[in-house]
Amino acid sequence: MAETVDTIIEEKQLSQEEQDKQAITRNYRRLLESIKSNMDETDKNNVRLAFELAVEAHKEQRRKSGEPYVLHPIEVARICAEEIGLGPTAIICALLHDTVEDTPVTLEDIKERFGERGDNIAKIVDGLTKLDHAYSATSKQAENFRKVLLTLVQDVRVVLIKMADRLHNMRTLGAMPRHKQLKIAAETSYIYAPLAHRLGLYSFKTEFEDLCMKITEPEMYHSIAKKLNETKRARLDYINNFIEPIQKNLDEELFSYRTTGRPKSIYSISNKIKKKDTPFEEIYDLFAIRIIVNVPPKKEKSVCWQVYSEVTDIYRPIPERLKDWVTTPKSNGYESLHTTVIGPDGRFVEVQIRSERMNEIAERGFAAHWKYKGVSSQPNVYDTWLDSVRDMLENPGEDAVEFLSDFKTNLFQEEVYVFTPNGDMKTLPKGATALDFAFSIHTDLGYHCTGVKVDNRIVPMGHPLKNGDRIEIITNPKQKPSEAWLKMVKTGRARSKIRSSMKEERRKQGEFSKEALERKLKNLKVDYEESVELLVKQFNYNSRIDLFYDISLDKLTIPNIFKQFQEQDGKLVVIETEEKVTKSEEEILPKKSRRKPLEPGKLLINDEPGSLYDYSLASCCNPVSGDRIFGYLTASAGLKIHRTTCPNATNLMANYGYRIMRAEWGRASETEFVTTLNIKGIDDGPGVIQRLTNKISNQLKLNIRSLSIAGNQGYYEAKVSLLVPNTDQLYLAMEALKNLDNVSNVTREDS
Ligand code: MN
Repeated sequence: MAETVDTIIEEKQLSQEEQDKQAITRNYRRLLESIKSNMDETDKNNVRLAFELAVEAHKEQRRKSGEPYVLHPIEVARICAEEIGLGPTAIICALLHDTVEDTPVTLEDIKERFGERGDNIAKIVDGLTKLDHAYSATSKQAENFRKVLLTLVQDVRVVLIKMADRLHNMRTLGAMPRHKQLKIAAETSYIYAPLAHRLGLYSFKTEFEDLCMKITEPEMYHSIAKKLNETKRARLDYINNFIEPIQKNLDEELFSYRTTGRPKSIYSISNKIKKKDTPFEEIYDLFAIRIIVNVPPKKEKSVCWQVYSEVTDIYRPIPERLKDWVTTPKSNGYESLHTTVIGPDGRFVEVQIRSERMNEIAERGFAAHWKYKGVSSQPNVYDTWLDSVRDMLENPGEDAVEFLSDFKTNLFQEEVYVFTPNGDMKTLPKGATALDFAFSIHTDLGYHCTGVKVDNRIVPMGHPLKNGDRIEIITNPKQKPSEAWLKMVKTGRARSKIRSSMKEERRKQGEFSKEALERKLKNLKVDYEESVELLVKQFNYNSRIDLFYDISLDKLTIPNIFKQFQEQDGKLVVIETEEKVTKSEEEILPKKSRRKPLEPGKLLINDEPGSLYDYSLASCCNPVSGDRIFGYLTASAGLKIHRTTCPNATNLMANYGYRIMRAEWGRASETEFVTTLNIKGIDDGPGVIQRLTNKISNQLKLNIRSLSIAGNQGYYEAKVSLLVPNTDQLYLAMEALKNLDNVSNVTREDS
């Protein structure tokens, strides 16, 4: 008896194995059929090799749905070939994309197996593996995004393959538990959909959005899908009816063309329903008619306008809805001529006119762009964009969240068109300012910008640009960027340029301190490099530049440093004592030795009691007792006390030196001062506000005057106005807030 049962089970297993094998072969064949690019013998062999390696590597694994795991990489490879149009190298890498991550296969194995192409293949697979790590639950989203971009600029194929991977995972998300579905959908709409948009992968972007909506708003999604389905017949009739007379006219022309009429994506229809607050039944532009002409590149533009003329001979156009992206493509490369006309029954119908080439670029963006390199007269928009991404990555700020928000603005949906004085057109993201414009023309133009004229009128540097503005930049070689400029720009390029210039300033200012420290270390006969690294680490600095800079400001003095360190066997070591002074303590401890005791809580101006002067605290930087300050004699508002780090300080000191007065605080003030902190962090759901207020009010015992918080897709920015007695308390509070979980940055406003 037992024997029979065993045999049956074995047979069943065999047949399961047999079934798996068949499915794998079937899918692999489908992949081979989908490859459109020409492959030489080596390519063909390599694809086969990659397939076999993947089958072998994943043989023990199954997907959540129960099917053999290897079907996933095979399908990802097919998407790369068929839906993106990538070549053999990408197909091979797609087949291998999960091997190094999840199986015993190593990069070395891959390198060896693929001969002279092995290095390149291994490099891309390595990029894909690292991208995978970028999304592990433990690491921070913003930092991850930087990693995605680093790989993007190294080899765009890595990101394209990753898109295909993500698309297949999204298409097969059904087998996942609900919370995982939500997490993957959030990530997709946060990073992948905008990136697909930026890379012009329109069909991917649309599918990502639809699939995300299916998970986040299933009721809405299914209700629209159902209605689209129900109205399908009527819509098709209408479309045919609409196209017929156009076709009659076009058929007489000497070029071939085709027409399509497809419904818009469920996601975009749902957006319309929400935005215009109209029911599905009343949304008129549920579909767009597309007329795609097949003509040589030289004739594209004139033929598109010819078709436009034919269409508008039959249907009356709505002039405001004419969009000419044939003459001026969108910055993601999109080219098409759009118009909306009044069709039968008075319904509005959008007509999109484009060539086959434009259509391919519209659907596949970056990937198609390679194919047509040099064909179109348009400059390669992706090269320009990738250059700007590279720029940002080369000058990153310390703050990943800031970087992310910079970049997110860079993935703009809309743009403005403006002109140089010579009439050259420039495209900038919507919301960009005159200062952004200056930086987009040339870094030096940005650095030395002192004023801007728009259409011959002087405007502020932070003036937001409008379509058609003609902009002239006024420069002065003495001008240089300050922190305040960061608020006047919108583009990542300008922000990163300003930050790197400020970093350079800090570096310059720290030069002397660096030399002094160098001498000291030389005297101690210890290794310079090693010792400086130790100091940076020990005092918790991000970089040497920051260390030298703080020394130059006397925030940290060389004698104080060497109270804590000594030479031992040619090395610098920490002196082990009970009372170790760290950087933050040093900052917040009363500076006994450095200052003579002053009248408590009072200002000292030019060494005289402040009460002799009619002064007020400047509202631009809100000085607090303990801050380094100076007095500035204004023309009309009396004596103002500013912080030396005030964004206006450099300008005031440089230009109105004669109006500057020396000012200092006495210690232990009785008064309280208003100061505003900007707090940025990862938004991990409700409770953020409570954690912040609890820390400030209950633990630090400080009074909150106001608090505002804005969350945006994964991170938040909070502004907290506090009453603090002095800088000691302020720095304590900032340190304490920084140490909270998920807080990534705490800065004082205007410093
Ligand atoms: Mn995968």
